[in-house]
Amino acid sequence: MDFLTLFLLYLCFLVSFVALLGVCSGGRGIYHRSSQVLSFVIPTQLQNVTHQALHRLFYTRSCLFVVLHILLEAAVYGEYTWEVFVYCWELQFHLLLLLLPYLLLAGNVGCFLLCSRADPGIITKSNHASVVKVYAYDGVLFQKGILCPTCNMEKPARSKHCSVCGVCVQRVDHHCVWLNNCIGARNARYFLLYLSTLTAMAAAITTISAALLRHLVLLSGMMHGTYLDEQGHEQPVGIFFLVQVQ
Ligand SMILES: [Zn+2]
Ligand SMILES: [Zn+2]
Repeated sequence: MDFLTLFLLYLCFLVSFVALLGVCSGGRGIYHRSSQVLSFVIPTQLQNVTHQALHRLFYTRSCLFVVLHILLEAAVYGEYTWEVFVYCWELQFHLLLLLLPYLLLAGNVGCFLLCSRADPGIITKSNHASVVKVYAYDGVLFQKGILCPTCNMEKPARSKHCSVCGVCVQRVDHHCVWLNNCIGARNARYFLLYLSTLTAMAAAITTISAALLRHLVLLSGMMHGTYLDEQGHEQPVGIFFLVQVQ
């Protein structure tokens, strides 16, 4: 099967999946009208199953994304350890540089645990009186006297009820499925640290992998070689050719 056929199959799969998501999650404007048309084409049973799966994944507290998160990190670090670290060690890269992704991983796991286990700022009857004084009502987005129908308490300014956790959260940002917790007033700092260490991990592994590839290309002398193009003419190997072949 050639590349174009594979790409077209992938595109069909992607469009069908997005259409199915659109039908099950609704939408607005032209997106809503398109999903209404598609709902006549997609079997009702498939719509129901997808709807239930989406509800289970995104609207209930579940460890599924936490497990997926751990598996993804394990896959990346397994690949780094067996494919990159070993070669870089043989090429005498600095040990501290090679250990940097592991140090960042330790920090990232710490922030992950702090963020997912910490109280995000749940508003209870006992702390409501103090929380309500923290931010003033602006009269536009946050108005005084609005009750949360589930918690049966007045909503403090900048708070929101999380339907996944079933509680009102102080200075809420969002509910994070990857951490299986709300991000609010009391764990936002850990969340920022978590994102920073995650970004630093990705940057460190990318930089080390790119340095390894550059080293291998220079050692092999490929840049001084030539290749025959489609017309049979000899061409010098350039960076674009190397990227395409690799
Ligand atoms: Zn509430
Ligand atoms: Zn939540």
